Amino acid sequence: MQIEVKQARLEFRDLGFEKLEGKTRVSFLRNFYFDVENELLERIGPFQADGNSIVFAGSTEKSARARFNQILDHGFANMYNKVTKKPSYYIHRYSGIPLIGSNAFGLIDRNTNIIEVKPLTGCNENCNYCSVDEGLRTRKVSEVVIEREYLVQEFRKLAEFKGCEVEAYINSQGEPTLYGPLPELISDLKGLEMVRGVVMNSNGSLLDEDYIDRLAAAGLRRLNLSLNAIDPQKAKIISGWGKYDIERTKRMAAYAAEKTELLIAPVWLPGYNDDEIPKLVEFALGIGAKIGIQNFLYYKRGRNPVTAMKWEDFYARLAGLEEKYGINLTKMDLADEFRIRPTINLPKPFRKGRVVDAEIKIPGRYPNEKIAVAGNRNITISNCPKSSGTVRAKIIRSKHNVFDAIAI
Ligand code: SF4
Repeated sequence: MQIEVKQARLEFRDLGFEKLEGKTRVSFLRNFYFDVENELLERIGPFQADGNSIVFAGSTEKSARARFNQILDHGFANMYNKVTKKPSYYIHRYSGIPLIGSNAFGLIDRNTNIIEVKPLTGCNENCNYCSVDEGLRTRKVSEVVIEREYLVQEFRKLAEFKGCEVEAYINSQGEPTLYGPLPELISDLKGLEMVRGVVMNSNGSLLDEDYIDRLAAAGLRRLNLSLNAIDPQKAKIISGWGKYDIERTKRMAAYAAEKTELLIAPVWLPGYNDDEIPKLVEFALGIGAKIGIQNFLYYKRGRNPVTAMKWEDFYARLAGLEEKYGINLTKMDLADEFRIRPTINLPKPFRKGRVVDAEIKIPGRYPNEKIAVAGNRNITISNCPKSSGTVRAKIIRSKHNVFDAIAI
């Protein structure tokens, strides 16, 4: 008589498993994780973690999958970002959270043919000028990551509503290369018939040649790289990250310039990188990249290490560089350069001042803040100690379908 040995191998595209002492670490989309006690998994059966698979002995696949899915549900509710170590929330098709409404994640339509795509929050650097207070020492208390298929599905709906050619602009509040399926996201967006191109911002520190090849092959049309100093020590100080390696980032920038359009986009921080700006211009010209210098601006919730330069001073300095290098820095028509065109407006379900009842879904990114849902929009509600149920809130911002509210 032959004895049948039951074994269930569960394979996952986005999960990885590593068995540790007493627990198994489950990686999700490369940069997120949660831990599951081995004792809990052993209730399904003796198991082995094997890369993207977990193998249970003595169980059928159907039974193991049903029980394992329950464990996963609990795990996702206790997920962390590997880089920032913050609790992290996964927004997916079945989460009941619309992707329009937040300045920090999802999709933003500013009534032009450029749709902003924000697949995750969180950053590996800690720039001293970060306008959105992201990074390793942010005051924010949580992160968000979005299912790729959900993002693409909602992007398509929005683009179809606009009824014109659009550009997908990956502009995370954070570093987009921390998003595991970024090349696949670019490829999916590029594959939509109404998308004429995909561009993205990055700090460049996590790029390597192979990854740049993948981004280019996926169809990335332009990379905007924030490079703020050539001097290694100054670059480290501005990035706020002791591991920042400007030489490596320069090498990657030069490689990227061969593979796609590259824009070097430094922020001019008076007192920090005045002498670096001409060096950055020379570097950009030397590798065949464009350069677009940005004036540092004050943001209430951002990090503000210096006083903003007056616009007339900023333009006078740019004019000096234009003359020295024979380039155009001030007369660039941005709308033309980036082919920005107005489109029909996405209707806003609420105006500023309106009181709404919204269903709380997940914690917000600052203490006492919640992400709630009403009118097919997500709403960031401050001053909200409640953690579930319905909250009544007054809308205090509604521009471009970005909704902030205060609980009342
Ligand atoms: S790289 Fe960008 S998101 Fe990250 S800390 Fe710097 S400015 Fe902020």
